[in-house]
Amino acid sequence: GGATQGKDGNLYPPTFVPSQANTQPRVNAGFIVLVRNEELEDMKSSMRQVEYRFNRKYGYPWIFLNDQPFTDEFKDGVRKVTRSEVRFGQVPHEHWSYPSWISEDKAAETRERMKNVVYGSSESYRHMCRWNSGFFFRHNLTLDLDYYWRVEPGIKLYCDVDYDPFAFMQLNNKTYGFTITAREFRETVPTLWQTTKAFMDEHPEHVAERNIMQFLTATEGGDDWNTCHFWSNFEIGDLNFFRSKAYLDFFDYLDKQGGFFYERWGDAPVHTIAASLLQDKCKVHHFDDIGYKHSSWDHCPANGAYHDSGRCDCNPSQSFDRHSWSCLNLWWASSDEGYPSYAVP
Ligand code: GDP
Ligand code: MN
Repeated sequence: GGATQGKDGNLYPPTFVPSQANTQPRVNAGFIVLVRNEELEDMKSSMRQVEYRFNRKYGYPWIFLNDQPFTDEFKDGVRKVTRSEVRFGQVPHEHWSYPSWISEDKAAETRERMKNVVYGSSESYRHMCRWNSGFFFRHNLTLDLDYYWRVEPGIKLYCDVDYDPFAFMQLNNKTYGFTITAREFRETVPTLWQTTKAFMDEHPEHVAERNIMQFLTATEGGDDWNTCHFWSNFEIGDLNFFRSKAYLDFFDYLDKQGGFFYERWGDAPVHTIAASLLQDKCKVHHFDDIGYKHSSWDHCPANGAYHDSGRCDCNPSQSFDRHSWSCLNLWWASSDEGYPSYAVP
């Protein structure tokens, strides 16, 4: 065991000592996947990545959820990719439908009005975002879990994950872990920030003293939101944070305002704002050592010593972290974790 000291003198991974996580017992944790039957091949591809890079050595269960019933073809297909326990569940109708206070006409007008915005005209995408904001942590099949890793179809893991990230989270008292942080399209969230501020005024008891507001507002020259958020297609998190009164009050407040349907609020900004404001800033962790790709953006670890260890198949100089839409630099500047030694400005 022990951390690896890189050529740069930095203990790798940067802030904590992941290898200690391997001396811990297994955690109550699993992969939570919302997926459609027709995404079977991309799902198998994701699972092969996760199993090869990590889970074949750890054996955490896979929990598949869907608003439709899973087909036998889907179930048989994904079962073949893992030796772990596999669960299949359907999302209850009341978690994937319009709440009583939402006007379906106004929702339909919104979809018409937002035709030129990414997923702006999609009804199912809105149910998906609302479900990922408010319900994944209270499905029957996830109630026994304390930690989750969200996996989507078609993702890649670039590097071996040689330690247990769930145990790492537990050991270090973390509740939310991400790999990529980016800006959001403002058209999808025009009133999310004012709604958040109204919530904070009404519920000061839920706002953490040492929050990380700076990450959300720096660069705006005021207290406006810069739209920086943790990309939620990859998350390793503590389900009990989402089950907390603070989070549930926040979700209910947002849900009452209707922005999941009258705008197109994503679960990523919702998770991010909650993780950043409702708890101490030490709770959030950047998994700098997990190389990850979803659609066209990726995170390739840029620590030279880590890269030289041969664990990764990616080019750090092409990582999204260098893109102007990335918020990683701002994360380093505002988080407890600070800059890794290879990136100190
Ligand atoms: P993007 O990553 O924002 O482009 O959105 P995706 O299309 O990847 O959807 C996010 C996640 O939700 C993925 O895991 C999808 O498989 C899943 N998903 C999206 N829409 C639906 C849906 O209508 N039904 C089900 N069962 N899963 C969905
Ligand atoms: Mn996706």
